[in-house]
Amino acid sequence: MKKLLVHMRIWLKVFLAFAVAAIIIISIINIFFKPTYSVTLDGEQIGYTNDKAGLQDRINEYIKNGDGEHIAFVQLETLPEYKICLLKKDSETNDDEIFEKVKNLGTTYYKYYAVTESSEEKAYVATKEEAEAIIEGLKEKKSSNKDKLGYIEKYSTDLAELIDSSTAIAKLYVKPVETTKYVNTSTKINTGAKINLGISLARPISGIITSRFGSRSSGTHTGLDIATATGTAIKAAAAGTVTFSGTKGSYGKLIVINHGNGVETYYAHCSALYVSDGAKVSQGQTIAAVGSTGNSTGPHLHLEVRVNGVAQNPQNYVY
Ligand SMILES: [Zn+2]
Repeated sequence: MKKLLVHMRIWLKVFLAFAVAAIIIISIINIFFKPTYSVTLDGEQIGYTNDKAGLQDRINEYIKNGDGEHIAFVQLETLPEYKICLLKKDSETNDDEIFEKVKNLGTTYYKYYAVTESSEEKAYVATKEEAEAIIEGLKEKKSSNKDKLGYIEKYSTDLAELIDSSTAIAKLYVKPVETTKYVNTSTKINTGAKINLGISLARPISGIITSRFGSRSSGTHTGLDIATATGTAIKAAAAGTVTFSGTKGSYGKLIVINHGNGVETYYAHCSALYVSDGAKVSQGQTIAAVGSTGNSTGPHLHLEVRVNGVAQNPQNYVY
């Protein structure tokens, strides 16, 4: 019994000696070293961190949202690996550097919208709402490409040059070409030879001819369309008497001048009328202003030349 106790005492001493030694060793390690994570990326050691969780959160946040505008997501080929190790206490960790290196290996995907015309990408904007507003704006302005417009969502590693809605509308707007769809089927037209009016006609306005006289699929065009800015002064083609000044159906605001010998000129789609019924006018006198009233999709003058009620081709006499 006594012998056993002696044995136990010896073992206890040995155990205590080991315990004290272990505590001393751990304390020494703690004074000079600290547990740290060694970080490797693609097999290459890129640094050390004490805050593995914090660094991982930062990287995950970056993958999700990137660090710029218009980013859909970021794709990383490889993720960093962490290995615990002991490092001298004064050695530096470099979380920021590690994060930058991870970022450099990432591929950024941008998300934006392309406004298309006949499926061809024409302008790029940041949001779906802007794309819709552009198409709506062009429809309101009766842009001639309004029925060919659309938009698509883009995911790309290259961010296109994004523009704002009003710039895009100005860029995509196409002036409607056919300014008068249809005027009058009951009016007879002379598609044949030029007849002698007995007077010469002067140009009421200068502008771009957007629709010529004659038959077309949508009906008969009884005059000549000359497009120019709203408000431009319209001048009497020849001297005569105003026989109509007012609004008339698809003509909108209209002036009719009788030049004698059955010759009349019509000035339609005006925005303002400056002479009244019965007024005598001289050649070149301002009688109205260009507009888009009546059956019209853009500011222009619809000019008619009639002889005994039959519409003549104005280009036989002017323009
Ligand atoms: Zn016309």
